[in-house]
Amino acid sequence: NAAALEDLVVPPVQISYTQHLIDGKFVDAASGKTFPTYDPRTGEVIAHVAEGDAEDINRAVAAARKAFDEGPWPKMTPYERSRILLRFADLVEKHSEELAALETWNNGKPHEQAAKSELPMLVRLFHYYAGWADKIHGLTVPADGPHHIQTLHEPIGVAGQIIPWNFPLLMFAWKVGPALACGNTIVLKTAEQTPLTALYVAKLFLEAGLPPGVLNVVSGYGPTAGAPLASHMDVDKVAFTGSTDTGKVVLELAARSNLKPVTLELGGKSPFIVCEDADVDKAVELAHFALFFNQGQCCCAGSRTYVHERVYDEFLEKAKARALRRVVGDPFKKGVEQGPQIDSEQFEKVLRYIRAGKESKASLECGGDRFGTKGYFIQPTVFSNVTDDMLIAQDEIFGPVQSILKFKDLDDVIRRANTTRYGLAAGVFTRNIDTANTLTRALRAGTVWVNCFDVFDAAIPFGGYKMSGIGREKGIYSLHNYLQVKAVVTPLKNP
Ligand code: ADP
Repeated sequence: NAAALEDLVVPPVQISYTQHLIDGKFVDAASGKTFPTYDPRTGEVIAHVAEGDAEDINRAVAAARKAFDEGPWPKMTPYERSRILLRFADLVEKHSEELAALETWNNGKPHEQAAKSELPMLVRLFHYYAGWADKIHGLTVPADGPHHIQTLHEPIGVAGQIIPWNFPLLMFAWKVGPALACGNTIVLKTAEQTPLTALYVAKLFLEAGLPPGVLNVVSGYGPTAGAPLASHMDVDKVAFTGSTDTGKVVLELAARSNLKPVTLELGGKSPFIVCEDADVDKAVELAHFALFFNQGQCCCAGSRTYVHERVYDEFLEKAKARALRRVVGDPFKKGVEQGPQIDSEQFEKVLRYIRAGKESKASLECGGDRFGTKGYFIQPTVFSNVTDDMLIAQDEIFGPVQSILKFKDLDDVIRRANTTRYGLAAGVFTRNIDTANTLTRALRAGTVWVNCFDVFDAAIPFGGYKMSGIGREKGIYSLHNYLQVKAVVTPLKNP
């Protein structure tokens, strides 16, 4: 399954933007500092990027504040805002090739995935939010007294947004799309691992006619740039995607500063349940995809594969064969399914979990080590005989490590699937409608995919139960995160 790691493809794109975007201009960090960003295929530095800290965040927030308070953004007509979002989507489409290449270069994800799935999705998300911009309105409300009551749905103000590295462009869109459609201004902090594509698209926003200060993008590390944003007194809302531990920090910073409302999209340990009536070949393929997609670096990864005891042996043999067939290699090469993990920290963390699996009573079926000798590649790994109490069944590994667990009946699997601090997603594979209905209602998760997995659409809400988060992104629900409701009460007759 090895596509050679020699002769790595030279990425067909230049790195043009490495400074912060503040108030419509690309600028160095106030401190003058930069930090390196890497090619995960080799661990080599590909660019030095402005390193933001509290002072850069202050400047970006001041620009966003001014753009919000003095306009023109919130004062433009919704149709004018919609037109800018549409123009931006067109520019993204025009620059899709460079963007997909840059995304793969900085993140390591298969180029075909970036080019054929993520870039079209990015365009689609902005078309979707452009469609909302002129359809956001309040209600007239009947009440007991002689009053006319209306609600105004107003933008919240300056939104602070902190995003992760696993889907840099899509996470940009999930955050920026609804905030702009509702008329907010933004300070976005990208993940330190993947600062490049957000800067590129931020430039396209300027070309599309977005006024200066409406979208500001600061690169930098979490504690030095993310934390000052989450605790800023002039930021009116914060949205975060990342680990559960960091999400708790962000919520606390928001609470301790100005009680800004917070949305969080956090970790997961999603069950993928293969029922006894399942077509095993199809179930194997889908369970494989649910876990290994994007190098296993998905918050919603189906990372606990529960298989009914009647089909367990057959499933296991085929799941192992499928993992052994998985093509690992240079993500720029055609046909490669799996590139490197994002960085040395994640690479080491995944290998630590693999070691914990080997030391437990689980059986290592295949993989279990790094792939090749350079970069951050890991062999597709499958453990069987996994039990719920094991570390690999409890923690979010965020890598290409499938854990297969056996179950007896629906009550057993429902109880076990729900025994987790997370509740982001779940997968159900069955041909029986009663089984599907029972499971979809019983599973405590923000998304349940039945006979499919990782189906994302701009209109489908996404978010977590329990410690997987607060609030929903995408769909109509995402607008609520960026709106205030003002009740206006007027007597029907002047007193
Ligand atoms: P991961 O472990 O996957 O890197 P994190 O939750 O640490 O996930 O990171 C997600 C985002 O949160 C990144 O943009 C990161 O820089 C940011 N971040 C990390 N620590 C903090 C913090 N203390 N305050 C605010 N943002 C943070």
